[in-house]
Amino acid sequence: MKTLLLTLLMILQAAALEVAVSVVPLQTFVQKIGGARVHVTVMVPPGSSPHSYEPKSADMKALSKAALYFAVGIEFEEAWLGRFGDANPAMKIIRTDARIEKMALAHEEHDDHDHGTHDPHIWTSPANVRIMAHTIADALMEADAAGAAHYKASLEAFMREIDATDEAIKAALSQTPKGAKFMVFHPAWGYFARDYGLIQIAMEVEGKEPKPKALMQLIETAKKEHIHAIITQKEFSERSARSLADALEIDVRPFSPLHPDWSNNLIELARTIAR
Ligand code: ZN
Repeated sequence: MKTLLLTLLMILQAAALEVAVSVVPLQTFVQKIGGARVHVTVMVPPGSSPHSYEPKSADMKALSKAALYFAVGIEFEEAWLGRFGDANPAMKIIRTDARIEKMALAHEEHDDHDHGTHDPHIWTSPANVRIMAHTIADALMEADAAGAAHYKASLEAFMREIDATDEAIKAALSQTPKGAKFMVFHPAWGYFARDYGLIQIAMEVEGKEPKPKALMQLIETAKKEHIHAIITQKEFSERSARSLADALEIDVRPFSPLHPDWSNNLIELARTIAR
């Protein structure tokens, strides 16, 4: 009881650094490095698609307290980061995608909800997350110099977790031939596929469910490529993935790139794709 009170007092005394981020995985990364020294607000609520998100007045209000904003390079930021800055000029905006080499979207993966010309799902690659983690740690150290030793130690621990995640993914895929294809509804796993020698086939056509003719072609492709599961995510409709899976008597497996447990989510995805 006494320790609980002490802990509460310590939390009340040391106001946490207020930080805002665009998507849930960034919250995971900032919390891993910041721990109790930071309080993180996420703009895109869990379960909704960041591609169609628009900030509400409550989101703008949350930003008024933030000292830092971590952007990831997703569509809505282009339209809104300027306004976020106007609403809170003291807030420093950090682009975690700044030192990331972006991949072009393959033509068949191109969405009409406009991913731009680059794939924005950069955090599905552990190699990218190593770079992002350093960018996050540098910004936290600059904003809160008193916590520098804490941030440095947490960054090192997070780097070990990223290494372990990478090793576990490689182990899961050790029997899977290079160039093996996996089928997804929304093409969110391009960087993951690139890093581990896999090929992502998207069902989504220009951001929409495939039409019957395209669906028939996908069924043929899935047969030819020995696809044994369709990866879906709760932020998008499962309807066409279900009909494809039913036609082939294979599984639909939900995996969201926005899952808060970044590491286990990627490892489980690798195990699902493995053959
Ligand atoms: Zn997406």
